[in-house]
Amino acid sequence: MHYISTRGKSPALTFEQAMLTGLAPDGGLYVPEAVPTLTQAQIAAMAGQSYEEIAFTVMRPFIGETFTDDEFRELIANAYGGFGHAARAPLVQLAPNHFLLELFHGPTLAFKDFAMQLIGQMFQKALGRSGSRVTIVGATSGDTGSAAIEAFRGLSNVDVFILYPHGRVSEVQRRQMTTPVEDNVHAIAVDGDFDDCQARLKDMFNDHVFRDEVKLAGVNSINWGRVLAQVVYYFSSAVSLGAPHREVSFTVPTGNFGDIFAGYIAKQMGLPIADLVVATNQNDILHRTLQTGAYTKEGVTPSISPSMDIQVSSNFERVLFDAYGRDGATVAGQMDDLKSGSFTISQGAIGMLRDTFKSGRASEGETSAAITAYVQKHGELLCPHSAVGVHVAAPYLGHTPMITLATAHPAKFPAAVEAATGIHPPLPPRMADLYDRPERVTQVANDLGALQALVRDRISF
Ligand SMILES: *Cc1c(COP(=O)(O)O)cnc(C)c1O
Repeated sequence: MHYISTRGKSPALTFEQAMLTGLAPDGGLYVPEAVPTLTQAQIAAMAGQSYEEIAFTVMRPFIGETFTDDEFRELIANAYGGFGHAARAPLVQLAPNHFLLELFHGPTLAFKDFAMQLIGQMFQKALGRSGSRVTIVGATSGDTGSAAIEAFRGLSNVDVFILYPHGRVSEVQRRQMTTPVEDNVHAIAVDGDFDDCQARLKDMFNDHVFRDEVKLAGVNSINWGRVLAQVVYYFSSAVSLGAPHREVSFTVPTGNFGDIFAGYIAKQMGLPIADLVVATNQNDILHRTLQTGAYTKEGVTPSISPSMDIQVSSNFERVLFDAYGRDGATVAGQMDDLKSGSFTISQGAIGMLRDTFKSGRASEGETSAAITAYVQKHGELLCPHSAVGVHVAAPYLGHTPMITLATAHPAKFPAAVEAATGIHPPLPPRMADLYDRPERVTQVANDLGALQALVRDRISF
């Protein structure tokens, strides 16, 4: 199993190399050379299995020689052992033929734990074997950073630095980043906004001397290992509703196109999925693109579902590559056009995308109204991202079971939930003491030199 770049100009890599590299040298994203398929019998056999067993069957064909079967089983067990629900990703019925897939039982209460916990284990194993260390630096508007810190805390071959905008993350998100006690965790409050954090991160990767010196590595959402881990819950949930003998549909709240792309991979592997619905908030570039055929950047307008406030949807490049018949040169040309703000998708390619994905958007008012309605009519308290999902799913409900992904726990976004319902959503008991734990954070100027000095000073080699 090899991985190739969506821009066609980088050598093919193994799973291990693709995972540790992140972005391809030609600027593209890694995708499998060919997506492996599972037989109907293999899918049917998942009925009643544990999440971990299904995870092994789904991911094993993608990892090649990187881990032995026993090693991989152990990594999966370690990754999901700390989740607060035995099913890992339980399915709750909302209405006839409408189900909610709860992806918020991981340590930081958002679906990013599914990918990040496994990535942490896989990095540690691969690095331990070669005796090397890496320095992981990430920028976050909240959820990715807390998930990365939880996944890498205490691992001996890794230091993890997370840059977040000072004063601009929620208190729960901040405390999840600042309260871990392990020495290899470094929460950095940057005097700036999220774009500043991302820009400084890019500067660090572009400083090749620094990058090599501290062995910089990234775990942002374009990392193939993260996409792969997200494919699993499409299988586990569909099988519990009767797949492969019965088709199911999914609605996925998304911004960076990562989670929905994992659903697209599940379908290619042989899972019978009828509709894959892209759900966006008011930052609706993905919905507009599917409607108009033009991918046009606009400014980001902050919303109550902040983890989807994105204007450049990185993982969209992966599906574009397929829509263009895997022609890397054409994808590279379109990404070049995007530098001036926009590109237009060819008739053939947009036809493929419209056949594969449906889409919709939820305004701020519609999102709040969905939170209110679901608590009143269905007895279900939703986070704002999940509320975007159920709003967009509504016109697609029918005779095929619809599974809407619930991407975060309502307690992670208490202000929006309380405004819509009057209910202050409590943290789950296992983290009820979050507000009592001491915080540890370093505040740094929005300055590359200062950040680099801090990283050099803190790492243990
Ligand atoms: C990251 C995130 C999303 C969006 O995920 P994509 O990778 O853009 O698909 C949605 N909801 C929550 C709570 C998130 O943290």
